[in-house]
Amino acid sequence: MKRKSPGNAGQVVRRRAYQDPVDREEAALTRRYKACIRCRMQGIKCFPNPRDHTRPCITCELANPKLWVLPCVRYKLTDASLFRLGPTEDFLKSKRWAGRQIKELSTWQSADIKVVELTQDHGNTRIRIPVRKFKPIPGDILFYRWKISSGERTYVCPPYAVTHVEKVGAELRRHIYDTTAVHVESIVNSNNTILVETFRIAMKSVASTRVQDVQIRNLIKDTLDLWVASRLIEKPWRICGDETLGMKPDDDPESGYFGRIPVTPIMDLQIDQLVIQMIVKPLGKSILTCLEQQTKRSKHSNWFATYLCFFILLHNYEVATSHDREFAELHRLKDRYSNYPLLEGFHSGAKTILAYFHYRSKGGIPFMLDWADGVAVKMAETTEEQTEYLRKLVDMVQVSGNEFLRLKESDVYEEDLYFGSQLFEKSWQPSRTL
Ligand SMILES: [Zn+2]
Ligand SMILES: [Zn+2]
Repeated sequence: MKRKSPGNAGQVVRRRAYQDPVDREEAALTRRYKACIRCRMQGIKCFPNPRDHTRPCITCELANPKLWVLPCVRYKLTDASLFRLGPTEDFLKSKRWAGRQIKELSTWQSADIKVVELTQDHGNTRIRIPVRKFKPIPGDILFYRWKISSGERTYVCPPYAVTHVEKVGAELRRHIYDTTAVHVESIVNSNNTILVETFRIAMKSVASTRVQDVQIRNLIKDTLDLWVASRLIEKPWRICGDETLGMKPDDDPESGYFGRIPVTPIMDLQIDQLVIQMIVKPLGKSILTCLEQQTKRSKHSNWFATYLCFFILLHNYEVATSHDREFAELHRLKDRYSNYPLLEGFHSGAKTILAYFHYRSKGGIPFMLDWADGVAVKMAETTEEQTEYLRKLVDMVQVSGNEFLRLKESDVYEEDLYFGSQLFEKSWQPSRTL
């Protein structure tokens, strides 16, 4: 590999080849496992333990044992998987795009464009989408099928698909941006005070002109948007306006669509993929990159914002897992969850987030501070409302200590705060899951 030598501007030098076989092996291990979090955050080279690469790296082994020591973990925040990329093979409604970007259909049957109003019944949120009749090709699925006690039932849909997909993608983005509060109110469990208060302070921080750093405000807003966008790819959409494309509400009480008019399977796939490709993917990438930079910068003034973002991302895993469980139940699958590889990705992502946060918070110190005392407040540069939230939070966390312990030892990954509660854990260590 060629690189420029900083001392000799313009002169290209070759990196020294590893002469010593031990050096060579060390480099190979570091490449394979990447740097551990401590070394990455300190911007130093990570030397794996030469005797046993599963043991802490040299820097971690020499870290001050009197302080809490973050386990030596080679997670990378920007690699964390935050969302589902698409349906599993069994539930794929068309093979037209096969993992590629959704494009405008080319096999239309009619020039007539109809506009349908759709909802997922999260509060009063609705969206209007243009659709058009298309000519099906092999692999397009035009019905929903489900198991009942005596066999199978089918609900057939007319061949309508979303048209003007680029514009619809932009409209979905606007919809997400505008409906954060309604989505939070209808989805976040109102009995869970920590959840309610945390989402409330996150939304207030976005709106507050007292949070002066625009990048920080945008980061929190983007994270809230990612959380909303992730809900848009969960619950099925139903047609709620006067234009029903000739469909009638499903009349089978055993169907998951009972009493509702579903969108056609192709529309379902198109909306799902538009949200994933045009919104969730770019948002996720920019959020993780920004959080990685902010963690590295480690300024007192950005601690609170990174805490909020990590909290929301962890809650996102809990809700997405809960959806996966409902999906498995709806389709009467034999396992508790429907998509185990997805869940494994979530768990590794959650542990990555927790490891970064604990590294950043030096073992949860901010949650042990007395937020009624001016020193902590001055250091963290929190607003009055944020400080008030932290004061309450420290009390709530204390009260919930046993409950948090029970959660961590259980395997109910879809429960509220299953991951989030580990942000408050002293001397956190990753647990074994799945
Ligand atoms: Zn290291
Ligand atoms: Zn290490």
